[in-house]
Amino acid sequence: MGKTKRPFWEEKTLEQMTKEEWEQLCDGCGRCCLEKLEDEDTGEVHYTSVACRYLDTWTCRCLDYPDRIRNMPDCLMINPGMIRKIHWLPKTCAYRRILEGKGLADWHPVVSGNRESVHHAGISVRNKVISANHVTQDDLEAYIIDTEI
Ligand code: SF4
Ligand code: SF4
Repeated sequence: MGKTKRPFWEEKTLEQMTKEEWEQLCDGCGRCCLEKLEDEDTGEVHYTSVACRYLDTWTCRCLDYPDRIRNMPDCLMINPGMIRKIHWLPKTCAYRRILEGKGLADWHPVVSGNRESVHHAGISVRNKVISANHVTQDDLEAYIIDTEI
């Protein structure tokens, strides 16, 4: 009997993944697209319940993914080196989970085979956030969320 092939996220390191595999690894939660505020004294990063104005708050997808860096210079083009450096990615983030050796959760779309599972499991930001189109920068602090993402 032949060996069962393991899925790419169990077989490869982040660096070994193809561009397509890398993109598939994103669970589509939209959490990293929330506005964040950094405490100037401590360097601590606080998430807010305000989503980047380019995030569709229902699908939790970027409205203009190919042009995201031009649209939003703060937006990160996440790569393996960066995942190792940034400390504020949500604990649920698939890239962080893989890096920490936790594998993918059963609600991840590539595991469940259903793109909606990340929403049904309550992991995505769907129905939980407001678009930055409706909030001024000065008011952002009022939207800081205490819960750890
Ligand atoms: S937090 Fe991670 S898994 Fe979720 S949308 Fe951002 S990059 Fe993708
Ligand atoms: S530009 Fe798109 S990918 Fe970047 S933070 Fe905004 S919604 Fe997210």
